[in-house]
Parts: sequence; structure tokens; C-alpha cells
Amino acid sequence: MKNNQTTALTLYSGGLDSTLACRVVAAQGIKVVAVKFVTPFFGYELLQKQDEYIQKIKETAGIDIILRDVTLPYLELLKKPAHGFGKNFNPCIDCKIFMLSEAKKMMHEIGASFLVTGEVIGQRPMSQRRDALRVIERDSDCEGILVRPLCAKNLVPTQAELDGLIDREQLHAFSGRNRTPQIKLAKQFGITDYPSPGGGCILADPILGLRIEEHYQEHKNIIPEDILLLLTGRQFKLPTGGWVVVGRDYPEDIKIENLRQPGDWFLETKEVPGPSAILRYSTGPEELETAASIVVRYSKKSVVGQGSAVIIADQDGARHEIDTRPLDDAVIQPWQKK
Ligand code: SF4
Repeated sequence: MKNNQTTALTLYSGGLDSTLACRVVAAQGIKVVAVKFVTPFFGYELLQKQDEYIQKIKETAGIDIILRDVTLPYLELLKKPAHGFGKNFNPCIDCKIFMLSEAKKMMHEIGASFLVTGEVIGQRPMSQRRDALRVIERDSDCEGILVRPLCAKNLVPTQAELDGLIDREQLHAFSGRNRTPQIKLAKQFGITDYPSPGGGCILADPILGLRIEEHYQEHKNIIPEDILLLLTGRQFKLPTGGWVVVGRDYPEDIKIENLRQPGDWFLETKEVPGPSAILRYSTGPEELETAASIVVRYSKKSVVGQGSAVIIADQDGARHEIDTRPLDDAVIQPWQKK
């Protein structure tokens, strides 16, 4: 027998709204596949444990999920989002347009007839105003194929509704910031385990968002490893332009080592316990000496004190030993990024 079941592809954030959107659609007998796009700004850690995550979402939310890494095009998007940024470095409107465009490209592969999001009109100041929802639909070329089950009854019917692929009567009319209707609906579906809304995007974080914004202002060719390094350890911008990142613990030291790029200086203490560090965009030997002195500053104080220690600095296999003293905090602090 031919399987005529309709399939919908949902943009899944991991939050309650997108979970509910999946469940509302699935409750109509529609097959729901969810896609979670990840970048170093959101969800990247899931790539390390994909199978576990996919299984967990299936068990806790009953949703079949696909993870897609979209880092490279997303790094480009951040250079000049057409609709600008929100309160921090979050380009929410362009982000949604981008994700919907990517999801639209996947529809054929999934066999999906329409797309679904958990957006609720009026819930977020920037990206969920009525005019913003329309712009998102238009600029992602998703007019008519994008169903928003949580607020559908506040919007004009989509083609999917008009074609009878999904029953509008069973969709919702949520609006605004009040979360009570979502919590009530979650109870009906037996969903108890969900994160608080709005969390999880580093670009919307005032400190990390600013750090990333400054990096974008100063550098043109940004690679994923730059972003991962920006989110690791103690960060210093030297007056001469070099960027020093110092691990705060052993896992960060390992991470820093793994993020080394050609041309980077990688620094470690030779004999005393101390952190690992990277100097990127180095302008010369004086800067390398400064970076080494910062590493000594964060080496084990009880061993080093105000004395000197030897730092091994390696650039693409060329090794130097630098015997240096710790820099004073009063000198270092103005260079430390927030
Ligand atoms: S908060 Fe972050 S992930 Fe969410 S829409 Fe905005 S930029 Fe995209």
C-alpha cells in the first residue's frame, strides 16, 4: 500500500516552543522530522554526542531529529546581516531567514510538504513581531509553506492549511510573552523536561556577544576555530595587536592545543606546572616574550612566585625557550578582554 502520510520539517531549537510545535503537528497524524542547526554560537557541543542527543530527544520529546552544522555560511552571515542586530550581536531576523532557507533546501531530501516553526507572534521584540514574521517568510522564500502551529490562528492561512495538509482548527492562537498557554499545552502532552526560554545563544549574551563583535570588527577572515578560541580561557588583546588565550584548567589547555592553527605560537611551561596558551596574530619577538610572561603569571604561584620560569614556544614546529618573569596584574589587566 502506498504511504500517503504527509511529512513536515520543523526548525528545532531545543526549547519548549519548537517541541510543542512538533507535537501539535504530529498530533494530526503528520510525520514530523526536526532539524537543529548548530554553529559555535548555539548547539555546537551536541556534535560531540550526536547519537546520544538524537536518542534523548526521541525518548523525552518523541521527536526524530537531524543535526546540521551550518557554521561556515553562518560566519559569513554575521559580517553584514541585512536586518541588523538585536540588543547584542544577535542577528535574529537574518538568523531565522537563513535557517528557513536551509530548511527549505532540505525539504526534498526529507520529502516534506511544509515547514514548521515554534514562533509565537509578539513573543520576542525583534524577530516575532507581525511585520518581522512576514519579512522572515518573504526573504527566506517560504511564503505559503511555513506553518507556525502555536500562533497560526492569528495569521493568515498558509497554503498547507488551504490544501488540507494540516487542519487549521487544531492549531493555536498564542500570542505575546505570557508562557501560561505553552506550559498548559506541555502538560497536556506530558512534556516536563524543557529548558527556560531564550537561553543558549552566545550571540545574545552581552559579554560574549560583544567579544565576538569586536573580533568581527578587527578581522576579515574568521574561521570556526577563532570563535571556539574566543569562547575559551582567559583572553588578552596585547597593545601591539596579538591575541593571547590562556587555559584556566586542564580541559581548556587541551582545547587550546586542539585549536592551534598554522602560524600560531603555542606556549607551555617547561618545568613548573602551568597553563597552555596560544598567541595568534603575533607581530614579533617582543610580543612572544609578553605572551610568555603572561603564561608565567598564571603558572603555579607557589612554585614560580616572582621568580622566572622557562616557557616553550612552538610555531609550526620551530621551538624556542623563553626564560621570563611573570607580568604584574596591573600591566596585564587592561589587556584582558571581558
Ligand atoms: S537568539 Fe541566536 S539563535 Fe536565536 S534567532 Fe537570535 S541569533 Fe538566531
